[in-house]
Amino acid sequence: MRSQDIKFVKNFENHVKQTIHKYKLLTKKDKVLVACSGGKDSTIVLYILNKFGYKPEALIIDLEIGKWSDENLENLKYNIMTRNGVFGNLQGKDIPLHVISPREIFGTSVCYLKSLAKENAGITSCMICGVMKKWLLNKKARELNATKIATGHNMDDEAQNLILNMLKGNPEMCANLGPMTGKIKDKLFVDRIKPLYFTPEADIRRYSELMGFKIQYDRCPCSVDGYRKEIRAMLNELEKKHPGIKENLVKNLAAVKKVRTPMRYKKLIGNGTRKSGNESILYCESCGEPARNRTCRLCQILACIKGDSQNKL
Ligand code: AMP
Ligand code: ZN
Repeated sequence: MRSQDIKFVKNFENHVKQTIHKYKLLTKKDKVLVACSGGKDSTIVLYILNKFGYKPEALIIDLEIGKWSDENLENLKYNIMTRNGVFGNLQGKDIPLHVISPREIFGTSVCYLKSLAKENAGITSCMICGVMKKWLLNKKARELNATKIATGHNMDDEAQNLILNMLKGNPEMCANLGPMTGKIKDKLFVDRIKPLYFTPEADIRRYSELMGFKIQYDRCPCSVDGYRKEIRAMLNELEKKHPGIKENLVKNLAAVKKVRTPMRYKKLIGNGTRKSGNESILYCESCGEPARNRTCRLCQILACIKGDSQNKL
């Protein structure tokens, strides 16, 4: 590696370390599960947490999106192999890898669910995938006694999410943003952390390439969210003209979240009837998972798909 690249790698890792410390994302007592897609962001989170000595475990949901998913799974397995993989130079111990199959859990493939969701309820492929991933991650993390779930969300993702939530009229969804979600504690809810929250996508790509991770850089072939594409392009254009705007967006949101009292958050989230210990998270009447309403988002979607729900999503 050239000397400027060595410097970049060091700065990159220090920046992530600072985010973890400043926002108290993790302690060495935590059992952290990294939600791995096989892509660059979550692979880096796994690598860096391992390097910092947090002893992470990896979990991948096999979405069975043909060759794309197969390659991601293979790449992840390859990268974390201690003997030959890129992680091999770190420690002698393998990182435990949990592979979750939605087909086994839901009795059908994600692709089939997506096509039904589109046909019967007009729900986009990305929406059902996102809701299902969150539901599965929380449930599996609990089963594995994890105290934190780390995801690979980066600064660009979060800036886009912030704008999208505002433009779509879902400001309450901003409670999910920030370096750590789960300010509201509940025994069934595992906190989610985003160590790359303050790291721009371009730096992530450079780091991944320099480290030689085996990565598929294409986006998911099912990703057809035109709205997000427009917002991404707009933010990239603005960033060129006004460097630092993405960072300002995510930093300001994190600052606003810090000064909000929990009561203010409680007003933002949830309005159902059955309450958990802290009055803000409910338990889904159908699956028992934590929810914002009587029925969780996933069960609402599944009911809509089956056509036995009167609720409009
Ligand atoms: P995405 O919503 O695809 O942009 O992914 C956001 C984050 O969710 C990634 O950085 C991962 O941490 C996690 N993630 C995405 N896909 C998967 C998957 N198939 N299995 C486990 N975690 C995933
Ligand atoms: Zn449910």
